[in-house]
Amino acid sequence: LAPIHVIGGGLAGTEAAWQIAQAGLTVILSEMRPVRQSPAHHTEHLAELVCSNSFGALASDRAAGLLKEELRQLGSLVIGMADRHAVPAGGALAVDRAVFSQALTEAIQAHPRITLRRQEVTHIPEGITVLCTGPLTSDPLAEALQAFTGLSYLSFFDASSPIVTGDSLNREVVFPASRYGKGEAAYLNCPMTEAEYEQFWQALVQAEQAPLKAFEQEERSFFEGCLPIEEMARRGKETLCFGPLKPVGLVDPRTGSRPYAVVQLRQEDKAGQLWNLVGFQTNLKWGEQQRVFRLIPGLEQAEFVRMGVMHRNTFLNAPQLLEPTLQFRKRPSLFAAGQLVGTEGYACAVAGGWLAGSNAARFALGLPLIQLPPETMIGSLFQFISSADPKYFQPMPANFGILPNLEGRRIRSKAERYGRYRDRALAALAATGLTRQVQTA
Ligand code: FAD
Repeated sequence: LAPIHVIGGGLAGTEAAWQIAQAGLTVILSEMRPVRQSPAHHTEHLAELVCSNSFGALASDRAAGLLKEELRQLGSLVIGMADRHAVPAGGALAVDRAVFSQALTEAIQAHPRITLRRQEVTHIPEGITVLCTGPLTSDPLAEALQAFTGLSYLSFFDASSPIVTGDSLNREVVFPASRYGKGEAAYLNCPMTEAEYEQFWQALVQAEQAPLKAFEQEERSFFEGCLPIEEMARRGKETLCFGPLKPVGLVDPRTGSRPYAVVQLRQEDKAGQLWNLVGFQTNLKWGEQQRVFRLIPGLEQAEFVRMGVMHRNTFLNAPQLLEPTLQFRKRPSLFAAGQLVGTEGYACAVAGGWLAGSNAARFALGLPLIQLPPETMIGSLFQFISSADPKYFQPMPANFGILPNLEGRRIRSKAERYGRYRDRALAALAATGLTRQVQTA
């Protein structure tokens, strides 16, 4: 069998290459560093963590923790190495980043079926290939991908609004409606009085922002329509009331009149469990986002499954292009994983690498491809990205909002609900028979 190509030796590519090699096939893993550096990486090691050294929550009754537990049970190289090189971080899995990346580089280099080539790939290779070039995919390959997919955009300054869970909204305050009652009530609306707006505006303009990296500052000027909500607010006290918070065409059923301002929430998932704050792309620090956005009436207890982010990003419109197996519909021998497919965060990139690598190997061997059950965190993540509304598709982290609803007896607390999500996911994963294949470096 011809070697399988994996492009990009980040978190996804390292996992993908390992899974293919462990399935008995040969792999050529191409990583452009150090021949060509990315604007955010600092070393030549594989699986370098570009920012924080944390993989998120450790407990398996948290979404990020459950995802990692599933990966452990599936024999993930990267999560196994993270466990081995963990440093104390309260309830999170954080690693000694230098030792972690070096150990992974050595494991890959030592594998007899993996050839590591330090080269920038500028076109999509023939044959079975897994693309894992991440949010900072180099320009020539991004252009090749754009030509292959036919999409008008691919790489852009990512300005995503926060997402909250439907369960955590105060339904006595928020009301469903579309402007002027047109069509079905597509939005949830958070009405504000003048005093509430004033308090929110003050907090917003005074909140602390996260610093942008130099390359992001340069690039931001090219991205129109990408103004953070806090910058828009600084232009004048009423600016938001004529922009994303305009109340026109909306009547609060509690008062029978038009509110002073309205924050609209748009549905993210088919089940209506995830809601996006429309127009709230922001560069505020994460703690500040929670503090300020919880001042919005109806969001006092909001649970944030994703915070707003602003950084350069390259990702595919996965719902338009990919199967839940991470194959391109247009070319089934081509797979993609990592941030490139529109998942967010280190552990999700590893999950994509595991799935795309395992499936690339199965494709080569003529075996049926894997789709994990939707009750598992990994299964639901790839089900989501391949079936979300392509019009509004934005990167998605692991979260319980994308799992199917629980059935059966009434749930008394959040802790019980999360525990049941975990138990159901791990039982569904065990039933696949795939957890028996656990191999470690
Ligand atoms: P990467 O880990 O970036 O790996 C992609 C690899 O492909 C890189 O090694 C790159 O050098 C290589 N490559 C690119 N183009 C080519 C080419 N043409 N040929 C060969 N090789 C190529 N997530 C978090 O969970 N926590 C954070 O704190 C965090 N901070 C971030 C900060 C920034 C500035 C950015 C841009 C992203 C951040 N992310 C963070 C998201 C993060 O990038 C992903 O979670 C994760 O690194 C994605 O893994 P990946 O394997 O898809 O991409």
